[in-house]
Amino acid sequence: MTISIDLHAHTRCSDGDLSPAGLVLRAKQQNLQVLAVTDHDTTEGIAEASEIAEQNQVKLVAGVEVSVTWENKTFHIVGLNIDPDNKQLTNGLAGLRVRRNLRAIEIAEKLAKKNIENALQGTQALVKGSIVSRTHFAQFLVNNGYCKNLQQAFKRYLGDGKPGCAKVQWASLEQAVSWIHGAGGLAVIAHPGRYKIGRARMHALLSHFKECGGDAIEVISGSQSPDVTPHFARLATEYELFASVGSDFHSPSQRWLELGRLPALPEICKPVWNCW
Ligand code: AMP
Ligand code: MN
Ligand code: MN
Ligand code: MN
Repeated sequence: MTISIDLHAHTRCSDGDLSPAGLVLRAKQQNLQVLAVTDHDTTEGIAEASEIAEQNQVKLVAGVEVSVTWENKTFHIVGLNIDPDNKQLTNGLAGLRVRRNLRAIEIAEKLAKKNIENALQGTQALVKGSIVSRTHFAQFLVNNGYCKNLQQAFKRYLGDGKPGCAKVQWASLEQAVSWIHGAGGLAVIAHPGRYKIGRARMHALLSHFKECGGDAIEVISGSQSPDVTPHFARLATEYELFASVGSDFHSPSQRWLELGRLPALPEICKPVWNCW
């Protein structure tokens, strides 16, 4: 029997639109049996999500999506089945949130040079949790008529190398894996298809991830074309990594992407949830 499972989703504690309770209820509506809440650099939504999940017979996996800099580029490492209150983890994440706040000041200064005023206060007013993300800046740009949608805001202002782009040194790969392991969790490379890196660099990343003790890779990711799935399934087997599946759901307004609507893992994969 296949289980309906989604191991990557966001709430408004980071850059999602739903409350933790709202996300769990949507998972229930979608007949999901297992849901992981994986907000960017915070675990603050887990307590609320766990409580509602228990009342609704959804198995909640406590998670987080850690921002990492590896060879000068940003990668995301999801932690699954973590203790959300583990001190080493929460201290590490608090450090990343400080960097987010400093970056926000820098982004606003850069946008001011493009005659976009008041971006810092305007963006901060949209933050509902403890992190400020580029998604909040993108929403500010849309709300104020500078861009027609979030994608355009990234394309014009916030994406890599664009006028509002500010570089951050996030956690190292070693740190992310060790925080996640310290909190009792498994470390997963998120959305491997989204990094725009060549074959050699992907292999270097996977080798380094294995050296750090990394556990799994998202073989199935929400935004990913089905033709690349066999490739990531083979990489998972080659590097002896478990396989995860996650939509990376952020908002009901992204009508093309729903919680839990994911293809099954290829047969050769070892599902990461078999570890629990
Ligand atoms: P941050 O971690 O603050 O740098 O923001 C990264 C987040 O921005 C990702 O987790 C996505 O949710 C969102 N994002 C990145 N690129 C795009 C894009 N092209 N269109 C819409 N959202 C994006
Ligand atoms: Mn996001
Ligand atoms: Mn991500
Ligand atoms: Mn995500």
